[in-house]
Amino acid sequence: MVGWAIAVHGGAGVDPGLPVERQEEARRVLERCLRVGAAGLRAGLPAVDVVEMVVRELETDPVFNSGRGSALTRKGTVEMEASIMDGHGRRCGAVSGLTTVKNPVSLARLVMDRSPHSYLAFDGAEEFAREQGVEVVDNSYFITEENMSMLKRAKEANSIMYDYRVPAPGVDSASAGLEGAKVGLLMNGLRISVYAPETVGCVVVDSNGWCAAATSTGGLMNKMSGRIGDSPLIGSGTYACGDCAVSCTGEGEAIIRSTLARDVAALVEYKGLSLQEAVDYAIKERLDEGMAGLIAVSRNGEVAYGFNTIGMFRGCATEDGFMEVSIW
Ligand code: ASP
Repeated sequence: MVGWAIAVHGGAGVDPGLPVERQEEARRVLERCLRVGAAGLRAGLPAVDVVEMVVRELETDPVFNSGRGSALTRKGTVEMEASIMDGHGRRCGAVSGLTTVKNPVSLARLVMDRSPHSYLAFDGAEEFAREQGVEVVDNSYFITEENMSMLKRAKEANSIMYDYRVPAPGVDSASAGLEGAKVGLLMNGLRISVYAPETVGCVVVDSNGWCAAATSTGGLMNKMSGRIGDSPLIGSGTYACGDCAVSCTGEGEAIIRSTLARDVAALVEYKGLSLQEAVDYAIKERLDEGMAGLIAVSRNGEVAYGFNTIGMFRGCATEDGFMEVSIW
């Protein structure tokens, strides 16, 4: 028996000007999710059930970028994606291009458990959702006022809005790659004093030492319709095996190029690095210019985080009663 552990994230890349109330709200949601997950683990649920349950909570709450509150496409619609992986037996399921499924992570779970495939997208995924009888809602359910106004600003700035590149207060804007921008204020001429929504994820090791991971997102604000990011891609945004489980967040295109989640697991599996060493190495050496973060747990009950953005909404809890939630 190992001590169970759970970690959650609500996305990497935080606006340094994020109002304190919004920070508090995000912390409250993460803490609530950790408690839900911890209760499941105490009740003896397997890791894969717990990651699904926790990500459902996060999808249902509009604070983060998944399910309700998802980032919008250029067309102002929502196209959600998610994946889940059970390290025990290395089974996985993924979905993309969902427009009506209330909890994408649960459809990913059904792809894993009840379809002959690993990944379904767009119309086929929606058809499968109906066959399986999962809860569906109108696309407008996912769209919040806040995200509509952010999409407007992203369009005005002709930018795919994300705040991974917003420099920390006091950092020179030129060195942070924001030519001509006042520190932390502009990106492509756009004022970034807004809350950009963030992806969610959960990793768990249960008391049998089984690991699982799940990630869910609406993707990037003002993305092209049809764009698929890292979150549903097994090995990029999500991975779990006998050794560990990993969920990533950040610039999807960079995470895809670096197969970030699988690299962390491979460093543990093949090189025998500790979980934190593997996370640090992958963040430092594998992202090139990309900005990202991740959470991980190992079969021994370790928890590790890493990010090269100025913040990542995250938290963890362990069987011995430890719990923390942090942003910066
Ligand atoms: N990785 C996500 C994507 O590129 C975005 C995020 O993590 O905030 O779709």
